[in-house]
Amino acid sequence: MRPLNARIRLDNLRHNYQTLKQIHGGKMLAVIKADAYGHGAVRCAHALSNLADGFAVATVDEAVELRESGITNPIVLLEGVFEATEYAIVDKYNLWPGVGSQWQLEALIAHHWQNPVKVWLKMDSGMHRAGFFPHNYTSAYTALKQCKHVDSIVKFSHFACADEPDNGMTEMQLEAFDLACEGLEGEESLANSAAILNVPEARRDWGRAGLALYGISPFGGVDERLKPVMRLTSRVFGERVLQPHSPIGYGATFYTSKSTRVGLIACGYADGYPRRASTNSPVAIEGKRSRIIGRVSMDMITVELDASQEGLGAEVELWGDVVNINEVAEAAGMIPYEIFCNVKRAKFTYSE
Ligand SMILES: *Cc1c(COP(=O)(O)O)cnc(C)c1O
Repeated sequence: MRPLNARIRLDNLRHNYQTLKQIHGGKMLAVIKADAYGHGAVRCAHALSNLADGFAVATVDEAVELRESGITNPIVLLEGVFEATEYAIVDKYNLWPGVGSQWQLEALIAHHWQNPVKVWLKMDSGMHRAGFFPHNYTSAYTALKQCKHVDSIVKFSHFACADEPDNGMTEMQLEAFDLACEGLEGEESLANSAAILNVPEARRDWGRAGLALYGISPFGGVDERLKPVMRLTSRVFGERVLQPHSPIGYGATFYTSKSTRVGLIACGYADGYPRRASTNSPVAIEGKRSRIIGRVSMDMITVELDASQEGLGAEVELWGDVVNINEVAEAAGMIPYEIFCNVKRAKFTYSE
């Protein structure tokens, strides 16, 4: 069998959840949209079900998949519904819909609810992507408050630049949010991973942890408080020695400068490894750091072996404990979020 494995350490996931909840205080949503950032939403949800105050997903389908697998924790739909008819599913499965636009609000009020609903009312505090403008927020809030099926309202907003510690945008968004919420009772939620870790004023009733839940710092580099959940590994299945001045791979973009032992590993961009992370991107061979040489192909990657590293059969970590996915992201000009979401074709295994 092809030796590409994505090992998902659920104990690390639980550790990260508890760490983030403790840093933030209050309650914490585990954000498991997009199949838990490529980690497997159902497995991750079950690993967290006796800890998590709630889960957050992006679509009704994602929420229903969790419910049908037996998850009973609260589930927030971060973007709400995409058409009015979905409120029937929200009602049936007892989901907490985000409401971030006028049509969602009107359709929610018009829906014939069987059960009381908890609404997450989104404010556009400055990101200008979704949510009610601050000057329209009170009227949206009041309209919901007057709807007898609405059981409570959580006021929430999202930061554009929380992962940039010196960006004044976060402070401006905080101010806009607090000003517009004056006099409106109810719980609040502002912090994504970056704000949970780095913006104490953003810690309110509910945090919303995504990337950091998977053990990865939203600031680049490594955060020692977090433990990476995914470890993507493969094995050397080919080995050769190349003379100096030999090209390697597509485009002949890399030439050896000396006699070089090259290992061929089973992983490529068809598995979601970024093609742009070619020569010099880090890997760890049997725990020892080395690098990719030449271009990443669809199914294969060539790496530099040194004399002390084993050849055929050696384990190669693409990211996990020695190589942080933030290093790969930087080499590729990407963010770790998109790399996680791209992982496929690997064999996923889960450890408790
Ligand atoms: C995805 C998402 C989050 C989680 O963000 P991270 O940076 O991964 O922690 C939080 N809030 C909202 C509204 C989101 O869409």
